[in-house]
Amino acid sequence: MSASISTDPTRSSFLSGDPKKMLIGGLWVDAASGKTFPSFNPSTGEVIAEIAEGDAEDANRAVAAARAAFEGPWRRMKPSQRQELLWAVADAIEENYEELQLLEVLEMGSPIGRSRPGKKRSSWEASVLRYFAGWPTKIHGQTIPNSLPGSVFTYTVKEPVGVVAAIVPWNRPISNAVWKIGPVLATGCTMVLKPAEEASLAALRLGELLTEVGVPDGVVNVVTGFGETVGATLTEHHDVDKVSFTGSTAVGQSIVRASAGNLKRLSLELGGKSPDVVFADADLTRAIPGAAMAVFTNSGQVCCAGTRIYAERPIYEQFVEGVSEFAKGLRVGNSLDPETQIGPLVSSEQLERVTGYLELGPEEGARTTAGGHRVMTEDLAKGYFVEPTVFADVEDGMRVARDEIFGPVACILPFDSLDEVSKRANDTNYGLSGGLWTRDIGKAHRLASEMQAGTVWVNGFLQFDPGIPFGGYKMSGWGSEMGEKSLDDYLNTKSVWINSD
Ligand code: ADP
Repeated sequence: MSASISTDPTRSSFLSGDPKKMLIGGLWVDAASGKTFPSFNPSTGEVIAEIAEGDAEDANRAVAAARAAFEGPWRRMKPSQRQELLWAVADAIEENYEELQLLEVLEMGSPIGRSRPGKKRSSWEASVLRYFAGWPTKIHGQTIPNSLPGSVFTYTVKEPVGVVAAIVPWNRPISNAVWKIGPVLATGCTMVLKPAEEASLAALRLGELLTEVGVPDGVVNVVTGFGETVGATLTEHHDVDKVSFTGSTAVGQSIVRASAGNLKRLSLELGGKSPDVVFADADLTRAIPGAAMAVFTNSGQVCCAGTRIYAERPIYEQFVEGVSEFAKGLRVGNSLDPETQIGPLVSSEQLERVTGYLELGPEEGARTTAGGHRVMTEDLAKGYFVEPTVFADVEDGMRVARDEIFGPVACILPFDSLDEVSKRANDTNYGLSGGLWTRDIGKAHRLASEMQAGTVWVNGFLQFDPGIPFGGYKMSGWGSEMGEKSLDDYLNTKSVWINSD
């Protein structure tokens, strides 16, 4: 256990004391305006911390710090030194993982049980950074022959793009930040990280760990505050070379517009309404819990959740019943209770949004076979809890089947043939992921190839590995995170021509 966790399991010592400051140029500073904003525990509605409310001035200072760091000694750091630094950050995350997880549990409500020591995922973010630690020593250009007369030697070099603004959401605070920090440090860029206003604490604690292990001042800056102020300033800023954004498609579109001024490089990981196709020949003992948890994990607050479930007609009723029973058996509770499987939604705004869809489903003609309501038991009434919900007999045109709800709401639709389901699965503006369940390898290959999505899981869902790229087709994004390919988004390629005669 980390020494910095207090004996009270609900408090991290990180939470005690003054409003949390921002990290700019290696210094912990208040917002220039002196303003702060509250961070809430969604299980109870209580304020857990006050956080510096940055605005345009703070964002500008952070960009200047990131620029100065980019042009300073960081530029001359050897690849092996960046490798060692990444490895040290990974070690620090692992050593302090329990505290980081506690902050995440408190600020966004993911159940603590999923992050207990010994659980498989406990060092996921550290493994992502160790993967990226392997890259600085392997990023290189090429020597390419040319056909010019005389003696002309041509080669390419890869150079970091420069200052990166990383704007992230609240649904996985540690992972969201680490997925950006990894390639930034691996490629030699510098960054301004803007965590979501709903969940900034884990990112601030990460900032402390980065400075403790010796990441040079200004290489990673953390500016807290709101999207319309800090976020918008960063995306419009002429001295930001690239924006790496994870969040909603609507904000992604506004970032595309905002970035036009200096034609920033962009990577966008946006929304989804992923199809999950269950064939009659699937192993239902795996497909039922698998498809259910592809929706209910993290209370459905997962961009690639498999929320549009197509079940083949012969097993349709059996499948609906299985998923509904599974949903009813899930334990909804305070995120600090180790027995909790489904925590709250992140905020009162999100609660309002999701309960709106719970009402809309039956109005549109869906049949509610599990859940359907906000949880109002005495112990949970102050938090933002909704029941894991299953809508059966959903039709393709219904809004519950088309909109990204970002809550624990499964929509189940019947289908009759592979050709038909292939078309219907792709009838969406999104293309982040898709799933399918079958024992027939032929069907698996065919639908995996036809699905217009950046990731397809067969007989599984929500699997990730740092070496495997993750990104969206269509309106789910540009570029991908993780894997070798993700690095290119943080690099420029320069061609050098040497005339030597
Ligand atoms: P979600 O729907 O998951 O809350 P958002 O897309 O609203 O996702 O927010 C993701 C991140 O984008 C947050 O850090 C938020 O502050 C930021 N953000 C919101 N609006 C803007 C904007 N106009 N420009 C830049 N960043 C923004």
